[in-house]
Amino acid sequence: MITQNNNFFMEKVQCLIIGGGPAGYTAAIYASRANLSPVLYEGGQPGGQLTQTTEVENFPGYPEGTQGFEMMEDIKKQALRFNADIREGSVTKVDFSKKPLLVEIDGEHQIEAEAVIIATGASAKYLGIEDEQKYAGRGVSACATCDGFFYRKKRVAVVGGGDTACEEAVYLAGMAEQVYLIVRRSELRASKVMQERVFNTPNVEVLFEHQTLGLGGESGVEKAILVHRKGTENEKQVEIAIDGFFLAIGHHPNSDVFKEFISTDATGYIKTNGVSTHTNVEGVFAAGDVADPHYRQAITSAGSGCKAALDAERYLKNLG
Ligand code: NAP
Repeated sequence: MITQNNNFFMEKVQCLIIGGGPAGYTAAIYASRANLSPVLYEGGQPGGQLTQTTEVENFPGYPEGTQGFEMMEDIKKQALRFNADIREGSVTKVDFSKKPLLVEIDGEHQIEAEAVIIATGASAKYLGIEDEQKYAGRGVSACATCDGFFYRKKRVAVVGGGDTACEEAVYLAGMAEQVYLIVRRSELRASKVMQERVFNTPNVEVLFEHQTLGLGGESGVEKAILVHRKGTENEKQVEIAIDGFFLAIGHHPNSDVFKEFISTDATGYIKTNGVSTHTNVEGVFAAGDVADPHYRQAITSAGSGCKAALDAERYLKNLG
């Protein structure tokens, strides 16, 4: 039901899903089939992080692989087939202090929801240099598990010194000919065990005290231009020949708008109760990367979207 009040659209919804990635769309499939009449807002990046990647070869059911963008379109179509109401728009404010749960969309549309599934994902952090945009999908990636396979017997660089960067460097070393790990400080932030793995992998070279100035290449990445010991008297510019440039400088979970009401860990990942998708607020569930600092895969996101819809269905049933 929609009513208008002072240019503000008010609407009552049984199950509201926030986020149009694998978790959100999968939650919509399950919630629609459970007759919860879900409304889903896709947010600023419909399709989620997978629309930034090229080919996806590790999602079960696609023996020949598929394009990330097409796969997300397929999952969305599947949700639409069961009449999920999928809309453009982003959450600008919430009030989870009372029932029904209040969610504001794009500052102009207010929704009263009985259950809310948060599936807003996480965004990979980038360095902020122009060439990251220029070579997006042509050698620049923020996901080694997604794109590493395309660099078999090639040369790649990974930026970062944390556990993710080390893990990705070792993973890529299993297929690439040469891996450079570009670390801005003179030491790694990663755990000792991950550091040892890096140092014991012969085709990983750690470039300490290096920062990236830019990338170069005709149609795709062919080199990275780095600066060694920036700001010191020994500052020196160097180039490395590479075919792929992987960012691993952390992710930012898209939970800021919920933080006043929803408990997160120190880095902003939403905390869920045990193996369920229940958050600290009754009737609010979290699925996908926004609640997952560990796995962050399309398939695990889709799985948790399914769990969130089942949890929401049980919660709504108990409300009577
Ligand atoms: P992280 O621990 O925050 O490390 C980020 C790394 O990127 C740091 O080395 C940081 O450098 C570097 N960095 C940040 N901004 C940069 C910039 N602008 N230019 C160059 N370098 C930059 O992030 P993470 O590695 O993604 O790990 C996140 C959390 O997940 C951690 O708690 C980690 O332990 C955990 N994790 C665990 C595992 C595992 O146990 N298997 C695997 C992956 C992640 P500085 O060190 O100089 O700040």
